[in-house]
Amino acid sequence: MSYQIPTEQWAQVVETTGKPPVYKKIPVGKPGLDEVLINIKYSGVCHTDLHAMMGDWPLEVKLPLVGGHEGAGIVVARGDLVKDVEIGEHVGIKWINESCLACSFCRQMDEPLCPRAKISGYTVDGTFQQYAVANARNVAHIPKDVSLKAVAPVLCAGITVYKGLKESGARAGQTVAVVGAGGGLGNMAIQYAKAMGIQVIAIDAGEDKRKGTLALGAMSFIDFSTSKDVVADVKAASPDGEGPDAVLLLAVQEKPFQQASEYVRPRGTVVCIGMPANAYLKASIFHTVTRMICIRGSYVGNRQDTAEAIDFFARGLIKAPYKVAALSELPKIYELMHANEIVGRYVVDTSK
Ligand code: NAD
Ligand code: ZN
Ligand code: ZN
Repeated sequence: MSYQIPTEQWAQVVETTGKPPVYKKIPVGKPGLDEVLINIKYSGVCHTDLHAMMGDWPLEVKLPLVGGHEGAGIVVARGDLVKDVEIGEHVGIKWINESCLACSFCRQMDEPLCPRAKISGYTVDGTFQQYAVANARNVAHIPKDVSLKAVAPVLCAGITVYKGLKESGARAGQTVAVVGAGGGLGNMAIQYAKAMGIQVIAIDAGEDKRKGTLALGAMSFIDFSTSKDVVADVKAASPDGEGPDAVLLLAVQEKPFQQASEYVRPRGTVVCIGMPANAYLKASIFHTVTRMICIRGSYVGNRQDTAEAIDFFARGLIKAPYKVAALSELPKIYELMHANEIVGRYVVDTSK
């Protein structure tokens, strides 16, 4: 099988940090010896893409930058050393575009911690373009009968919350509070938790997110914008009033990161996943000690987490809502995202 590959393509390009991307034509990249070229059909829009555009984090971003790291598409070309990815195969580009697979982190399946990792839509161009390059050993393999549109958000949001749930240590029958439950990661977290037999207390704001999270299977919803005491409300929503066994922090504000250790159950685990700009953790040392609380970070997932997260999806266990928009509409999506107005995920269609 061979594909006609154009020399030029449409892309959304961030040219200046803090300014919206520019929709323009750029050259199509060429895969290196161990890389593949993927015709991206759909890409999810993650809040991380907005952080990258705004220069929110203490990690230098490539400029000019094609963002995006939830890209699903078809392999149209491959380098001479690529053996395990076929032309015509359906694959996904995720946050970890390349890792060395030889360092002490990679050897222990912690490739997101690889010091030589390349990051899609951050240190290398990502998926807000029609053709993107990725290292063949790091692409996600997608079964042919799975919708590329629907699976795109799994490639970051799904993998990340699935990994976060595993890192939380929560087991079937236990309860997890999902903070930011109405957003892209949050909606996925409710579905993965449900599939893993874990109950969810959803925390977010507004009627749409209340309805949406309850419809996805959350056992209760707490509106942080109207609650007089979020800590008391979360505790009261847990089965025995002692607090949830774990907390997944997906919000893009600092305050909930300070609150979580106050309502997590003694011996519970607080998992930090959202990364608000210039934010710090603060928790009472006395209560962290005497309640034996664990506070940890969780960062995307490795290749095994990726395969498992896609397998949950392929088995029909994960149904999170998404809206489709044209790639040309990306700046509008960022505005809605900045205003916390998106329920679930936006997926962009790169052909428009
Ligand atoms: P999103 O904008 O879709 O969702 C964020 C949600 O948080 C919104 O629904 C918003 O209403 C809600 N929220 C805001 N303030 C809140 C508060 N005080 N309490 C409860 N909810 C609140 O964003 P997303 O794409 O789901 O990403 C969320 C965060 O996760 C971002 O910071 C992103 O960069 C980060 N992220 C981290 C990883 C990782 O590996 N750790 C991976 C992907 C994304
Ligand atoms: Zn992401
Ligand atoms: Zn490595």
